[in-house]
Amino acid sequence: MRLTTIKLSGFKSFVDPTTLHLPTNMTGIVGPNGCGKSNIIDAIRWVMGESAASRLRGDNLTDVIFSGSSGRKPVGVASVEMIFDNSDGTVVGEYATYSEISVKRTASRDGVSHYFLNGARCRRRDITDLFLGTGLGARSYSIIEQGMISQIVESHPEELRVHLEEAAGISKYKERRKETESR
Ligand code: ATP
Ligand code: MG
Repeated sequence: MRLTTIKLSGFKSFVDPTTLHLPTNMTGIVGPNGCGKSNIIDAIRWVMGESAASRLRGDNLTDVIFSGSSGRKPVGVASVEMIFDNSDGTVVGEYATYSEISVKRTASRDGVSHYFLNGARCRRRDITDLFLGTGLGARSYSIIEQGMISQIVESHPEELRVHLEEAAGISKYKERRKETESR
């Protein structure tokens, strides 16, 4: 599975609809301080269901919505869509047969957020389920930010185990078991 496209609109500094194409396996994002590089990483986390404002470098979840600038009024809705090439069949289950998978999240100022899978409304849970066990996820090790290496190195065995289980692809089954046991 490969991330091929990110579409942003009204998300942080990306007020106008912006499409980022990631045509190859390696993409570098470069630019001056404050141009929005980290905002793209925030967008990736956000669309995968991150719900802690602090992890998106904000105080409130609505801080991800464009809040205006000297020449522009604030907007009411933020939206981010990620499009994956799934022709290698990484995603299993209901969406396994789709060669392209689109994951989208929107949020408005009243705090309401909606998620979409291939254009159809879904629960946040459906999105997190989709990525569970793939190594990708709002808080998984596929996004390594400043300070995270030392955090992993210094983590307790139990914390390390979470990453190992995700890498081994078993976190999905543990989650299912937990769910079954709680019924
Ligand atoms: P650096 O190289 O310093 O890490 P960067 O390219 O990673 O910079 P970002 O942190 O992605 O920069 O972007 C910061 C910019 O995004 C700031 O100018 C900030 O005002 C703007 N920004 C963040 N949230 C919003 C928002 N909700 N509305 C409008 N602009 C925003
Ligand atoms: Mg940055």
